[in-house]
This record gives sequence, C-alpha cells and structure tokens, in this order.
Amino acid sequence: MKITKNIVLKFSREIVDQPIVCKLAKVYDLSFNIIKAYVTPRQEGYLILQVSGRESDLKKGFEYLTESGVKIEPVSQDVVRNEEKCTHCGVCVGICPVGALAVDEDTRKINFYSEKCTACGLCINVCPVRAMEVRF
Ligand code: SF4
Ligand code: SF4
Repeated sequence: MKITKNIVLKFSREIVDQPIVCKLAKVYDLSFNIIKAYVTPRQEGYLILQVSGRESDLKKGFEYLTESGVKIEPVSQDVVRNEEKCTHCGVCVGICPVGALAVDEDTRKINFYSEKCTACGLCINVCPVRAMEVRF
C-alpha cells in the first residue's frame, strides 16, 4: 500500500547543489511533488516535498537523505501568528511558498490564511518581531 507524506528538507550550503533528491525516484521507487524550493541568502536550501511510496521504500529513502546530510522535518506542527506582535511589515509575504501570507489590497495589512499554511516554518526565521510561532 502506498502512503504519502509532506516533509520539509533542509540542505546546508555544502550540499545544496548536489542532485540528492532525484535518487529518491531512481533508486528508492518513490514519487515526489516539489511544493516549493527555496534558497536563503546564506545559500541554505529548503524543499517542501510531497513524497509517495511504499512504507519500506519511504523508510529507506529517508535514511538515504539523512545519511546524505539532509535534515528532514515533518509538516505536522501548527504555525500561528501572534496578532499582538505582528507589525504588518510584509517581510514574510514573499517567502511563504503557498500564499498563506498575503497583502490585503484594501487595508494593506498582511492576512494570514492558516488553512493554506503547510507549517514549513520559513516565515518564522524571517519575521523581525518573531510574530510567527510554532505550536506543537
Ligand atoms: S514578517 Fe512578521 S511582523 Fe511582518 S507581516 Fe509577517 S508576521 Fe507580521
Ligand atoms: S509556515 Fe509560514 S511560510 Fe510556511 S506555509 Fe505557513 S505561513 Fe507560509
């Protein structure tokens, strides 16, 4: 039986340009859909993937990623916005891969659409006032 998981992969700058992920399909018989790829100014890479395959193949594929130096995090926690802290500066809008943070054209404030959020965590690192928080 095939199962599907949403994961965030983090690549250090030393391995960010290596073709690690394509081996998931070729060697481990996994199919994947890249939801978002992002490289930070410090050259660290983030990939949000939806991966499908047999459970045993997923396990082997994830072991291979870890051995290759990739950090794997499940997309499982909730991300919330602390409304008291948010200054609506807009820094987070461009980094959100799924459009969960967007400018309201009427008010010019930043709306947070939590139902779209995949909890990838990218906005947490860029928010200057730490208004985006992980809730486990
Ligand atoms: S970066 Fe932080 S303060 Fe600025 S709009 Fe986003 S959540 Fe609000
Ligand atoms: S954690 Fe932040 S950047 Fe990631 S999807 Fe949710 S709102 Fe967007």
